[in-house]
Amino acid sequence: MAVGLPENVFLTRLDAAANWARKNSLWPMPFATACCGIELMATASSRHDIARFGAEVMRFSPRQCDLLIVAGRVVMKMLPVLQRIWLQMPEPKWCISMGACACTGGVFDTYAVVQGIDRFIPVDMYVPGCPPRPEQLIAAVIEMQEKIERTGTLNGREFVVRTKPTGPPPFDVDELRRRREAVPVEGLEIYDPPRVQ
Ligand code: SF4
Repeated sequence: MAVGLPENVFLTRLDAAANWARKNSLWPMPFATACCGIELMATASSRHDIARFGAEVMRFSPRQCDLLIVAGRVVMKMLPVLQRIWLQMPEPKWCISMGACACTGGVFDTYAVVQGIDRFIPVDMYVPGCPPRPEQLIAAVIEMQEKIERTGTLNGREFVVRTKPTGPPPFDVDELRRRREAVPVEGLEIYDPPRVQ
Protein backbone atom coordinates (compact mmCIF):
# COMPACT_ATOMS: atom_id res chain seq x y z
CA MET A 1 0.00 0.00 0.00
CA ALA A 2 1.40 3.33 -1.00
CA VAL A 3 1.88 5.76 1.80
CA GLY A 4 0.42 9.11 0.89
CA LEU A 5 2.55 12.22 1.25
CA PRO A 6 1.01 15.57 2.02
CA GLU A 7 0.85 17.90 -0.96
CA ASN A 8 3.68 20.17 0.17
CA VAL A 9 6.99 18.80 1.40
CA PHE A 10 9.61 21.22 2.66
CA LEU A 11 13.17 20.07 3.15
CA THR A 12 15.91 22.13 4.75
CA ARG A 13 18.97 21.92 6.94
CA LEU A 14 18.62 22.48 10.68
CA ASP A 15 21.23 25.25 10.49
CA ALA A 16 19.21 27.04 7.80
CA ALA A 17 16.01 26.80 9.82
CA ALA A 18 17.73 28.20 12.91
CA ASN A 19 19.31 31.03 10.89
CA TRP A 20 15.98 31.92 9.36
CA ALA A 21 14.38 32.19 12.80
CA ARG A 22 17.31 34.09 14.30
CA LYS A 23 17.70 36.64 11.55
CA ASN A 24 14.04 37.58 11.64
CA SER A 25 13.82 37.97 15.39
CA LEU A 26 16.85 39.99 16.45
CA TRP A 27 16.53 41.51 19.91
CA PRO A 28 18.81 44.56 20.11
CA MET A 29 20.62 45.66 23.23
CA PRO A 30 20.96 49.44 22.86
CA PHE A 31 24.19 50.85 24.26
CA ALA A 32 23.49 54.48 23.45
CA THR A 33 25.84 56.97 25.01
CA ALA A 34 25.57 60.11 22.91
CA CYS A 35 23.99 61.80 19.89
CA CYS A 36 23.98 58.60 17.80
CA GLY A 37 21.57 57.23 20.38
CA ILE A 38 18.94 59.70 19.18
CA GLU A 39 19.23 58.29 15.67
CA LEU A 40 18.91 54.82 17.15
CA MET A 41 15.69 55.90 18.86
CA ALA A 42 14.48 57.42 15.58
CA THR A 43 15.11 54.09 13.87
CA ALA A 44 12.66 52.46 16.25
CA SER A 45 10.06 55.19 15.87
CA SER A 46 7.08 55.13 13.53
CA ARG A 47 8.69 56.92 10.58
CA HIS A 48 11.48 54.37 10.13
CA ASP A 49 9.97 51.47 12.07
CA ILE A 50 12.65 48.86 12.52
CA ALA A 51 9.85 46.46 13.44
CA ARG A 52 9.47 45.90 9.68
CA PHE A 53 12.65 43.83 9.96
CA GLY A 54 11.77 42.02 13.16
CA ALA A 55 14.33 43.88 15.25
CA GLU A 56 12.15 46.18 17.33
CA VAL A 57 12.25 44.34 20.64
CA MET A 58 14.87 46.45 22.36
CA ARG A 59 15.73 45.07 25.72
CA PHE A 60 17.78 46.61 28.48
CA SER A 61 18.72 43.28 29.94
CA PRO A 62 21.70 41.80 28.07
CA ARG A 63 20.60 38.27 28.91
CA GLN A 64 17.59 38.71 26.65
CA CYS A 65 19.47 40.23 23.71
CA ASP A 66 21.42 38.96 20.74
CA LEU A 67 22.34 42.16 18.89
CA LEU A 68 24.46 44.77 20.65
CA ILE A 69 24.17 48.22 19.04
CA VAL A 70 26.83 50.61 20.34
CA ALA A 71 25.67 54.10 19.41
CA GLY A 72 27.95 56.89 20.54
CA ARG A 73 31.36 57.42 22.02
CA VAL A 74 32.68 55.08 24.68
CA VAL A 75 35.12 56.37 27.27
CA MET A 76 37.74 54.24 28.98
CA LYS A 77 35.86 54.33 32.29
CA MET A 78 32.77 52.96 30.58
CA LEU A 79 34.64 50.26 28.68
CA PRO A 80 34.47 47.55 31.40
CA VAL A 81 30.69 48.04 31.52
CA LEU A 82 30.43 47.57 27.75
CA GLN A 83 32.57 44.47 27.92
CA ARG A 84 30.55 43.03 30.78
CA ILE A 85 27.30 43.61 28.89
CA TRP A 86 28.80 41.87 25.84
CA LEU A 87 29.82 38.90 27.96
CA GLN A 88 26.41 38.72 29.63
CA MET A 89 24.66 38.39 26.28
CA PRO A 90 24.11 34.72 25.43
CA GLU A 91 25.43 33.20 22.19
CA PRO A 92 24.66 33.51 19.39
CA LYS A 93 25.20 37.27 19.49
CA TRP A 94 26.32 39.99 17.13
CA CYS A 95 27.50 43.57 17.39
CA ILE A 96 26.88 46.69 15.32
CA SER A 97 29.18 49.66 15.85
CA MET A 98 27.10 52.74 15.00
CA GLY A 99 28.68 56.07 14.14
CA ALA A 100 32.16 57.48 13.80
CA CYS A 101 32.73 57.63 17.56
CA ALA A 102 32.00 53.96 18.22
CA CYS A 103 33.93 52.89 15.12
CA THR A 104 37.03 55.05 15.51
CA GLY A 105 36.67 57.54 18.34
CA GLY A 106 35.40 60.10 15.83
CA VAL A 107 36.56 63.63 16.46
CA PHE A 108 37.46 62.74 20.05
CA ASP A 109 41.10 61.83 19.60
CA THR A 110 41.84 62.03 23.31
CA TYR A 111 43.26 59.77 25.97
CA ALA A 112 39.83 59.29 27.56
CA VAL A 113 37.87 58.05 24.54
CA VAL A 114 38.13 54.54 23.11
CA GLN A 115 39.48 54.83 19.57
CA GLY A 116 37.21 52.15 18.16
CA ILE A 117 35.28 49.59 20.19
CA ASP A 118 36.55 46.82 17.91
CA ARG A 119 39.82 47.00 19.80
CA PHE A 120 38.03 45.60 22.84
CA ILE A 121 35.02 43.59 21.67
CA PRO A 122 34.26 41.79 18.39
CA VAL A 123 32.27 43.88 15.89
CA ASP A 124 30.25 42.45 12.98
CA MET A 125 29.06 45.57 11.23
CA TYR A 126 30.22 49.18 11.08
CA VAL A 127 27.90 52.10 10.34
CA PRO A 128 29.80 55.23 9.25
CA GLY A 129 28.57 58.76 9.78
CA CYS A 130 28.29 61.47 12.39
CA PRO A 131 25.56 60.69 13.07
CA PRO A 132 24.44 57.96 10.67
CA ARG A 133 20.90 58.24 9.34
CA PRO A 134 18.32 55.71 10.56
CA GLU A 135 18.28 54.31 7.02
CA GLN A 136 21.96 53.43 7.42
CA LEU A 137 21.27 51.55 10.62
CA ILE A 138 18.41 49.71 8.95
CA ALA A 139 20.76 48.82 6.08
CA ALA A 140 23.24 47.46 8.64
CA VAL A 141 20.52 45.36 10.27
CA ILE A 142 19.57 43.94 6.86
CA GLU A 143 23.21 43.13 6.11
CA MET A 144 23.48 41.60 9.56
CA GLN A 145 20.52 39.38 8.73
CA GLU A 146 22.21 38.31 5.50
CA LYS A 147 25.40 37.52 7.39
CA ILE A 148 23.48 35.46 9.94
CA GLU A 149 21.76 33.55 7.15
CA ARG A 150 25.08 32.95 5.40
CA THR A 151 27.30 32.01 8.33
CA GLY A 152 25.12 30.96 11.25
CA THR A 153 25.15 27.46 12.69
CA LEU A 154 22.80 25.82 15.14
CA ASN A 155 25.43 25.20 17.79
CA GLY A 156 27.37 28.43 17.23
CA ARG A 157 30.42 26.89 15.54
CA GLU A 158 31.10 30.22 13.87
CA PHE A 159 31.86 31.80 17.22
CA VAL A 160 34.71 29.52 18.22
CA VAL A 161 37.32 31.93 16.89
CA ARG A 162 35.42 35.02 17.87
CA THR A 163 36.59 35.76 21.40
CA LYS A 164 39.09 38.39 20.35
CA PRO A 165 38.52 41.89 19.05
CA THR A 166 38.68 42.39 15.32
CA GLY A 167 40.14 45.88 15.17
CA PRO A 168 43.64 47.03 14.34
CA PRO A 169 46.39 46.62 16.92
CA PRO A 170 47.26 49.70 18.92
CA PHE A 171 49.81 51.86 17.17
CA ASP A 172 50.56 54.83 19.35
CA VAL A 173 52.13 55.16 22.76
CA ASP A 174 49.00 56.56 24.41
CA GLU A 175 46.89 53.70 23.11
CA LEU A 176 49.37 51.17 24.44
CA ARG A 177 49.38 52.84 27.83
CA ARG A 178 45.58 52.90 27.98
CA ARG A 179 45.41 49.21 27.19
CA ARG A 180 47.98 48.39 29.80
CA GLU A 181 46.13 50.38 32.45
CA ALA A 182 42.69 48.98 31.61
CA VAL A 183 41.21 46.46 34.03
CA PRO A 184 41.13 42.96 32.46
CA VAL A 185 37.74 41.32 32.08
CA GLU A 186 37.51 37.57 32.42
CA GLY A 187 36.56 35.84 29.18
CA LEU A 188 38.02 38.40 26.79
CA GLU A 189 41.64 37.88 25.75
CA ILE A 190 42.52 41.37 24.78
CA TYR A 191 44.87 42.84 27.30
CA ASP A 192 48.18 41.68 25.90
CA PRO A 193 49.68 44.69 24.17
CA PRO A 194 53.27 44.47 23.02
CA ARG A 195 55.70 46.56 25.02
CA VAL A 196 57.11 49.73 23.50
CA GLN A 197 60.90 49.52 23.25
S1 SF4 B 1 29.50 59.90 15.71
FE1 SF4 B 1 28.82 62.05 15.79
S2 SF4 B 1 26.65 61.90 16.26
FE2 SF4 B 1 27.55 59.90 16.80
S3 SF4 B 1 28.09 60.05 18.97
FE3 SF4 B 1 29.87 60.67 17.77
S4 SF4 B 1 29.72 62.92 17.67
FE4 SF4 B 1 27.70 62.13 18.23
